[in-house]
Amino acid sequence: MDNVCHTLVGAALAETGLKHRTRYGAVALMIAANLPDVDVLVFATSTPSVSFRRGWTHGILAQLVLPLAMALAFSWWQRRKTDNRQPTTDNQPPARFWWLAGLGYIGIYSHVFLDYLNNYGVRLLNPFDWRWLYGDAVFIIDPWLWITLGLGVWLARRRASRKSLRDLSSPSVRSASRRRMLPGLAR
Ligand SMILES: [Zn+2]
Repeated sequence: MDNVCHTLVGAALAETGLKHRTRYGAVALMIAANLPDVDVLVFATSTPSVSFRRGWTHGILAQLVLPLAMALAFSWWQRRKTDNRQPTTDNQPPARFWWLAGLGYIGIYSHVFLDYLNNYGVRLLNPFDWRWLYGDAVFIIDPWLWITLGLGVWLARRRASRKSLRDLSSPSVRSASRRRMLPGLAR
C-alpha cells in the first residue's frame, strides 16, 4: 500500500489507546507502520528496484528484527534527552522499551498484511522463500481507505480533546488545581 495509508493505519491504532502505553507511542506506531518501506532507498542505487523491493525489509527476519531496532533507537533517544535536560513534568508516561517493541510489531505486521492484500505482491517469507505472495484484494492506492481511516482518526482526536476540555472545566479538577496553586491555603 502507499505510505499515506500505512501512516493512517498507525495513527488509527494509536487512537485505540495504544499511544498511552509509552512515551512516543503514537509516533512509534506510525513509523513502524512504514518501516519496511525503507527499501525505497534502492531507487538511489543502481540495483534494479524490482529485485529488492518488498523483499528483505518485508520478510520474516525484518519482521522480527526491525521492531526491536526501532525500540532501541527510541530508548537511546530518550536517554540522550534526559541526560541533557531536567526530567520532564508533563503527563506523558515514560519510554518503555518492551511497549515500544510491542507497538513496533503491531505496526510492522499491519504493514506487511496491507502489502499482502494488494495486487503488487510481497515476499513475506524472504529470505527463506523468495516467491511473491498476492492477496489481490486492494489496489496499491485506495482513496476509500484514506477517507475511512482519516475520518476515524479525526473523530477519535476530536472526542479526546472535548473530553479533556470537559475534565478541565469540572469542579473537582478546578479545586484540585487551586489547591496546587495555593498550597498554604489548602493546609
Ligand atoms: Zn511495503
